[in-house]
Amino acid sequence: MTISKTLLEADFKTPVVRVQKTVTKHLKKGSIEGMIVVMKSGASAEEISAMALRVESLGLKAHIIEGTERTVIAAVGEKRESTKEALAAGAGVDEILPILAPYKIASKEVKPDPTIITAGSLVVGGNKVGMIGGPCSVESEEQLMEAARAVKAAGGTGLRGGAFKPRTSPYSFQGMKEEGLKILANAREETGLAVVTEVLATEDVDLVASYTDVLQIGARNMQNYRLLEAVGNTECAVMLKRGASATMDEFLLAAEYIMNEGNARVMLCERGIRTFESHTRFTLPLASVTYLKNKTHLPIVIDPSHGTGHAYLVPDMAVAAVAIGADALIIEMHPRPEEAMSDGYQSLTPEQFEDTVGRCRVIADAIGKQM
Ligand code: PEP
Ligand code: MN
Repeated sequence: MTISKTLLEADFKTPVVRVQKTVTKHLKKGSIEGMIVVMKSGASAEEISAMALRVESLGLKAHIIEGTERTVIAAVGEKRESTKEALAAGAGVDEILPILAPYKIASKEVKPDPTIITAGSLVVGGNKVGMIGGPCSVESEEQLMEAARAVKAAGGTGLRGGAFKPRTSPYSFQGMKEEGLKILANAREETGLAVVTEVLATEDVDLVASYTDVLQIGARNMQNYRLLEAVGNTECAVMLKRGASATMDEFLLAAEYIMNEGNARVMLCERGIRTFESHTRFTLPLASVTYLKNKTHLPIVIDPSHGTGHAYLVPDMAVAAVAIGADALIIEMHPRPEEAMSDGYQSLTPEQFEDTVGRCRVIADAIGKQM
């Protein structure tokens, strides 16, 4: 059994959402609608599974979502006249509500309480603020171990590092690939930090998932739908980064692709968008946190490193992100930024990272959160 599987089992002891995998695979994509089957608060497990079967027998896909108060079943599929009545007649059903948002299971309509994702040492959501630090790329065992120890010493809860790198130029460093994954796994072994690393291609999903705690989908791949489906079929948590020119609806629908395959452990990462502004690498809209919290139950991560592209802008944006309610930060930190093989200009030193964690913690405390 891989480490990530073991961690996953532990996670399921404190589940917030569990999405049932179903057999209904080939829905016609014409007029898809979503309905929330709200079960009565005392509904039995038998009533809930009988209801899920009834949803499926009507040709809809059933996603069972356990909230703190009661269970709902999101029923998503082709629109038909009689569906609502057929669902309302089920035992233990309280009411049937339409899901108005274009995304269904990612929507706050189906689950008003926030989703908390636990992946090893990393807890994201609710009143926990995750702090993921580490270099843009894994460059060597020494570099990564030094970074990992610094993240741990500063009070970080997750370790980042790219082994498969999406680079603008094919001549730039492409990452250490599986060797890099092994180094990340060693760093987890020594420090206990959960690993977050990017998967670039569908054919690498199983390999990367066997080493990491969180699969990162990069901005350039946010609309790679086959890749989204592939990570949706793993048992790994996923950090989905916003495409540099994606709208919020496109972002949430990309999350829906992952969840539609049965993986509910999705965190959304705002990492900045492309605008006319050239003083910063991207423009980082912190209002995304508040917007997304109104639309989805999924936790929100802010990446102030790619979001600004300048190390000196990162600490203040990190503090502001915690203040506005971000559930986690992902920050690039390199033992020697001037020697980094990628993104050194936006990477903090270990000292700056530690200082930033300290400042963020003060804000987290002030708003009743733990970091
Ligand atoms: C990264 O995290 O190093 C990265 C490439 O991020 P993004 O996909 O947001 O550009
Ligand atoms: Mn980077």
